[in-house]
Amino acid sequence: MQEFDHYTPQSLPEALDLLGRLNGQARIIAGGSDLMIQMKAGLVTPAAVINIKRLSALKGISYDEQTGLQLGALTTLGELTRSPIIREHYPCLAQTAGLMASKQIRNFATVGGNICNASPAADSVSPLIAMGATLDLIGPQGGRRLSLEDFFLGPGQSALAPGELLQRINVPPPEGETIYIKHVPRSFMDIAVVGVGIRLKIEENICQAARIVLGAVAPTPIRAKQAETELIGQPLTPDRLDRAAKIAADECMPIDDVGSSAWYRRRMVEVATRRCLHALTGINK
Ligand SMILES: Cc1cc2nc3c(=O)[nH]c(=O)nc-3n(C[C@H](O)[C@H](O)[C@H](O)COP(=O)(O)OP(=O)(O)OC[C@H]3O[C@@H](n4cnc5c(N)ncnc54)[C@H](O)[C@@H]3O)c2cc1C
Repeated sequence: MQEFDHYTPQSLPEALDLLGRLNGQARIIAGGSDLMIQMKAGLVTPAAVINIKRLSALKGISYDEQTGLQLGALTTLGELTRSPIIREHYPCLAQTAGLMASKQIRNFATVGGNICNASPAADSVSPLIAMGATLDLIGPQGGRRLSLEDFFLGPGQSALAPGELLQRINVPPPEGETIYIKHVPRSFMDIAVVGVGIRLKIEENICQAARIVLGAVAPTPIRAKQAETELIGQPLTPDRLDRAAKIAADECMPIDDVGSSAWYRRRMVEVATRRCLHALTGINK
């Protein structure tokens, strides 16, 4: 691995100052479970890494009934699985984190790192988009809020501007129920071949709101908006759920790669979407 300098700022202003002074030559490191692998493979060769693990401004999990959840970017995947707040109000997030990596990795890998790595297969992202999450980014010009859905520009590409950090993730108060299904052909240590996150709000069997998010089947995580339209305002019947699942499969844009063929990915989007919808509605064919 190429040599690099290592900085450990003690405060957010110090970290932002360092990022500015190193002027694009530095990469942020949180848990390092993505970055170190990329550096060892020579895919990224920063002159310096800035370790943000000591920044208390990026830590903490809090919940308010009016405003919802605030999740520090440094929250580890393990904390997501264990937090009583998450388990009570956002159980899908705890379950999703439990499907990721291994227990050892979950103890240091962070949700902020999972998002900022900008992989289309990042597991935490589909349920978070389904729940309507927003991001608080902070940089030399101050802070800004961005919808998580708009954060991804392509594989490994995000809307983070030079010198910016992800500080926290905000999730609105829970409305309806959310589920995430990750399909991997071998074991849960694998990266998802398909990930489907769905939130439905149902009243008297009429779908009031629907968000369907597909991971690993396009350059970024995507909403299946036509499939959502098939459900919203309609009575939920087995045929309608089937149609929505088929439409979601038509909306994705998978590629052939070492993980899977595009054909298989598309078929699994239909299967996983139908399973999510059946689980959320209690309808079983
Ligand atoms: C064996 C193994 C299994 C894995 N399994 C899964 C899996 O099942 N599902 C899955 O989704 N992922 C998986 N991963 C990938 C990885 O563990 C996750 O993406 C993890 O959440 C990354 O977090 P991190 O803190 O380690 O990120 P890091 O490696 O520290 O950072 C990742 C990227 O985000 C940037 N970054 C980190 N934090 C911030 C911030 N606050 N602001 C701005 N930029 C930031 C870094 O510069 C870097 O580019 C796996 C990895 C390994 C090695």
